Amino acid sequence: MRPLVPPHIASLAPYPPGKPIQEVERELGIEGAIKLASNENPLGPSPRALEAIAGAVSDLHYYPDGGGYYLKRALAERFDVDPSWLMIGNGSNELIELLVRTFMVPGMNAVSSAGAFVVYKLVTLGAGHGFRESPLSPERGFDLDALLAATDRDTRLVFIANPNNPTGTWLDGAALERFAAALDARFPTDPPILVLDEAYHEFVDRPAALDSLGLVRRRPRTVVLRTFSKAYGLAGLRCGYGFARPELTEAVHRIKAPFNVGSLALVAAEAALGDEEFLRRTVQLNANEMAYVTAGLRALGVGVTPSQTNFVLADFGRDAEALFRRAMARGVILRPMGAYGLPSCLRISLGTRPDNERMLAVMGDVMAESGAA
Ligand SMILES: *Cc1c(COP(=O)(O)O)cnc(C)c1O
Repeated sequence: MRPLVPPHIASLAPYPPGKPIQEVERELGIEGAIKLASNENPLGPSPRALEAIAGAVSDLHYYPDGGGYYLKRALAERFDVDPSWLMIGNGSNELIELLVRTFMVPGMNAVSSAGAFVVYKLVTLGAGHGFRESPLSPERGFDLDALLAATDRDTRLVFIANPNNPTGTWLDGAALERFAAALDARFPTDPPILVLDEAYHEFVDRPAALDSLGLVRRRPRTVVLRTFSKAYGLAGLRCGYGFARPELTEAVHRIKAPFNVGSLALVAAEAALGDEEFLRRTVQLNANEMAYVTAGLRALGVGVTPSQTNFVLADFGRDAEALFRRAMARGVILRPMGAYGLPSCLRISLGTRPDNERMLAVMGDVMAESGAA
């Protein structure tokens, strides 16, 4: 008999979403918990996005604009590309999924690094394709030589999260240009599509050191993905976007659901894109809190990987699952990293200053309690 759930699905571990705050509070009988587990914007959503949503709710009986006309026009203007070079997804998650479904056929594989965003692996294996992982570098970043070595002639997609989630590491333009050239030299007639997932791009402190859109223009098989979920504060609405040549975007558009992004998400994203004041405040707060949290954790003897994002990977030098549970019991929700093969680490999203102060105090306490401060 054929199995009801095919083996390539049955063997997957589901993506571990954080529990809702209210549920954690109910289970533990506590109040006022803070969630620093999903890299969300501690300032909330862009106020201009909220206004745009309020102005659009009375039109909810209409289907959304399936082509994302206005959002694409705004993105095209902002990034100086033709709208035909853009794709819009239900979160950039959906775009990852669409890339796999559009460009991969049985027998092909996708490649990424261990310790990288786990969705690449889930989506690729879930579609029944092969997935290969190169090891992380000793600095816990992508090791581009190892990544190159993991490719073969059947490799269709190479995923690089840049900056990487959950390690926060970042590769500059010189490194990526060299990698792209090496990929093309290795597979001159049929090179893999290089997918640069830049979900944390807005937080990078020297963005001029990487011209990823230039790489999209110069190298035909290159895709750049970005999102409104992080710096723009719209994670709950689900809107991401991607840049690629029209040959690629047109192919993706053939299989996308006709109305893949909701109308409120479209108007909110467009408004958030124009809310430069909010983006500036977000990035400034993040820079301040990155310095504060990094110093605070190091003062506790915790290892912190230098991060170009809105979170840090904190290494406690021993199994961190117990620390995670103790911190949660005190109302500080962080993200354990066992599923990423980093069991001694927790990923800690940066919050407001009061949230971060509380997190540091709680971590100091739970480390002392379990006897290894
Ligand atoms: C958060 C994140 C995404 C974005 O997801 P959305 O679907 O746009 O919310 C994509 N890639 C990485 C590496 C992320 O951390």
